[in-house]
Amino acid sequence: MSGVLLLLLTFFAVSKAQPHSNDPPPSSTVCIVGAGIGGSSVAHFLRKYSPDSTPATKIRVFERNGVVGGRTATVTVAGETFEAGASILHPKNLHAVDYTKILNLKVKEPRSDSLSLGIWNGNEFVFKTVTLSSNVPFIDKLLKLPIINSLVSLVNSALMFFRYGFSLFTMQNFVESTVGRFLKYYEGHGSRPIFETVDEMLQWAGLYNLTTRTLQDELVDTGLSTLLINELVTVITRINYGQSVYMSGLAGAVSLAGSGGGLWSIEGGNWQMAAGLINQSNVALHLHEEIKSVADLGDYYELNSTKGKSYKCEVAVVATPLDELDIEFVPPISIPERKLQHTHTTFVRGLLNPAYFGLKAVTKVPDLVGTIEDPNLPFSSISVLKKHNEKESTYKIFSRQPMTDALLDRVFSVRKETIRINWAAYPHYHAPEVFAPFILDRRHLYYVNAFENAASTMETSAVAAENIARLILSRYFGRVIMHSSNLSASSPGEGTHLDL
Ligand SMILES: Cc1cc2nc3c(=O)[nH]c(=O)nc-3n(C[C@H](O)[C@H](O)[C@H](O)COP(=O)(O)OP(=O)(O)OC[C@H]3O[C@@H](n4cnc5c(N)ncnc54)[C@H](O)[C@@H]3O)c2cc1C
Repeated sequence: MSGVLLLLLTFFAVSKAQPHSNDPPPSSTVCIVGAGIGGSSVAHFLRKYSPDSTPATKIRVFERNGVVGGRTATVTVAGETFEAGASILHPKNLHAVDYTKILNLKVKEPRSDSLSLGIWNGNEFVFKTVTLSSNVPFIDKLLKLPIINSLVSLVNSALMFFRYGFSLFTMQNFVESTVGRFLKYYEGHGSRPIFETVDEMLQWAGLYNLTTRTLQDELVDTGLSTLLINELVTVITRINYGQSVYMSGLAGAVSLAGSGGGLWSIEGGNWQMAAGLINQSNVALHLHEEIKSVADLGDYYELNSTKGKSYKCEVAVVATPLDELDIEFVPPISIPERKLQHTHTTFVRGLLNPAYFGLKAVTKVPDLVGTIEDPNLPFSSISVLKKHNEKESTYKIFSRQPMTDALLDRVFSVRKETIRINWAAYPHYHAPEVFAPFILDRRHLYYVNAFENAASTMETSAVAAENIARLILSRYFGRVIMHSSNLSASSPGEGTHLDL
């Protein structure tokens, strides 16, 4: 071999071994703080869009609790499992639909009977749908027959129309148009940009303006009647976000979408989506390990945990709201101040006291008691989750303040079991919304929950997480994701949610 050839070969060998200085190191670690649906979705989409990187890229997921799922969690009352946090999914939550399919999860059977609704103002029910029930089990069974149920639904639709008129259709159109715009986030990668800011992401889908005005203003301009806004719409925003119609318009519209038909959930608990995604994504899961600081050391971040351990991560993702946490960032980061709405969820096994509602029999109390906006009302809603027998049901109460024992003893005539959860539930929405950045430091520190000011749902977390995964792949790994998403906006849900 000539000396020149040897020199050339040596040159090529050396230049191949030395990566270009801008390339990521051959093995990199992505660290994700939080194992809710947001954090687990980031891991899922990183693997989905870059399957060949599996051995080289390590993904670590840190979770301060002993279980994954975050605000999707269940409680057990009288041996039965109920959703304690996020309970319902919309039929067009296409990532959730996809997760259900790929993880082989079972969709919970919808209730066969329709729930009665009453709107309580503290003194009386200003609106009530009819409910047919009897204390005599045989007659009660007859009243639950599908044909009777359909008739009851028809009568209730007529009652609703009689009270709220055509405004109901206007409301439905408003919700459908918002959902239609949201579906753009499932378009293929060819036509859907990777968004560096939340503002940009919302503007692209035509949703940004809804975050600059209150739901109230938006609905008045759309032509909804004051009665519908003050009663039914208020009941819905109080149930879904614990807030009034003065919340920002986009979160308000999402809340209204969460009251329509076809809502669904996972049998056994929605937390299984996060668990399944983490199981499938080849990650190192660190349970009971809270991250207390994230320091940028130039080429990598150092994450320190309460276990006294340090982790070297080339990319760091915060997948939890930072508002009530004291994670130390070095150098410090700056995000707009945001208050979280606390929702107190109280589960009671027992029996409501009809006298509290000025009624003679408990069977006359609607299955779902919603409330109007009045500071004197101690709860937002009370709903029956399960009727065990005529003497005992399981109820779920949402309130802005804790439900004291004294108050519960007035609302219930029998109380055998009480479980209380104080959730730092979702942002307190106010228009115009100001958004934190997705990229917290202009390098590789990302924030999934910046999107939560638009709306807080399992699906919005998944949608934000997918965008963060694409940001990481393009900004850090320099990867262009060419293959398009298998979810298409032109056929939303087609072939997927029909299976549910
Ligand atoms: C009562 C209630 C009802 C709701 N109803 C619905 C509904 O019906 N439908 C719907 O779609 N959405 C609903 N939501 C909203 C939904 O639950 C959230 O939007 C969604 O679950 C947020 O997911 P996430 O992964 O972004 O955050 P989270 O679920 O909050 O996950 C963040 C995780 O990070 C962990 N963590 C925090 N700090 C650290 C740290 N320093 N180190 C390590 N780990 C950390 C937390 O323990 C948590 O597990 C509801 C929420 C509540 C509270």
